[in-house]
Amino acid sequence: MSCLFTARLVNGATGDPGLHCQLAGQRRGLLFDLGDVTALMPRELLRVSHAFVSHTHMDHFAGLDHLLRVILGRQPRLVLHGGPGFVAQVEHKLHAYTWNLVHRYEVALEIEVHEFRPDGRRRSALFSSRDGFSRARDEESAWDDDVLHDEDQFRVRGRFVDHGIPVLAFALEEKARVAVNVERMAARGFTSGAWLRELKAAVMSGAPGATPIEVRWKDRAGEHVALRTVDELRPVVLDQRPGRCIGYVTDLCGSEADARTLSGLLRGVDQLHIECVFLDADRAHAQHKHHLTARRAGEIARLLGARELVPFHFSPRYEGRGEELRTEALQAWTGR
Ligand SMILES: [Zn+2]
Ligand SMILES: [Zn+2]
Repeated sequence: MSCLFTARLVNGATGDPGLHCQLAGQRRGLLFDLGDVTALMPRELLRVSHAFVSHTHMDHFAGLDHLLRVILGRQPRLVLHGGPGFVAQVEHKLHAYTWNLVHRYEVALEIEVHEFRPDGRRRSALFSSRDGFSRARDEESAWDDDVLHDEDQFRVRGRFVDHGIPVLAFALEEKARVAVNVERMAARGFTSGAWLRELKAAVMSGAPGATPIEVRWKDRAGEHVALRTVDELRPVVLDQRPGRCIGYVTDLCGSEADARTLSGLLRGVDQLHIECVFLDADRAHAQHKHHLTARRAGEIARLLGARELVPFHFSPRYEGRGEELRTEALQAWTGR
């Protein structure tokens, strides 16, 4: 069974941090951080439905302008998520431009912005090109779990780590996935149809096992229609497996408190993208800058039980020495 997401660092391990996650079989992607995104093709930018910004240092946020420029007049909607002050910061960016002609565009652009705060509150606002991106539908509500975005196939969770300022660390979680086992289905003579979709939807939504499904099958005696329960059909027709989790963690000091926060967010993460900004030899400098060393990143990956480690956000001071950062992170992760 293939994965729902293909994740790729926008600028590799050096350059502005950012992660692009393409949804399999859909013309759609997600972005984590909005630094320099010019390495992505316009086609990829046009398909970004949601972007999640860890914090608004320039190397994580300056690319919003480029993204807007590509999608303006061509895409109807963009949803942005960020930390404290984010609604006002997006608004400031939008209001830095003159929009006297944009209301004439055939495709109007709506930007939905969600701001999450460490005090458990969220703020949501809407900006539309129809009225020069003035703030509309400005609402405050409680944010009492760590879910930033939730839909049928996946959710994105976020928690705050410490970079001198609160920074969002992200978990992109596929929900449990089901796939039809064609061989077992054929062996029973079941023919595909709307009932299969109904069964999958029932399993995905956690419907009770006794939920009836009208199933169709063929044998020598002809075609049959009968009611079967979800519990009867599931083991015969479907294979189920837990969804994968992708982590994106960058710009943090990596204190014990950060490690505890990340344990709550990313325990057992399948693929962990984590910053490795400095070498352990420059630990004092890393602390001063509120960044991780490669060794600390590896220790955190080990603590989380990460299955795969993807180091990034290398400091330009190590140009040509990426292998040293990678090796240091890897050694701390594997404990060798
Ligand atoms: Zn930063
Ligand atoms: Zn940074």
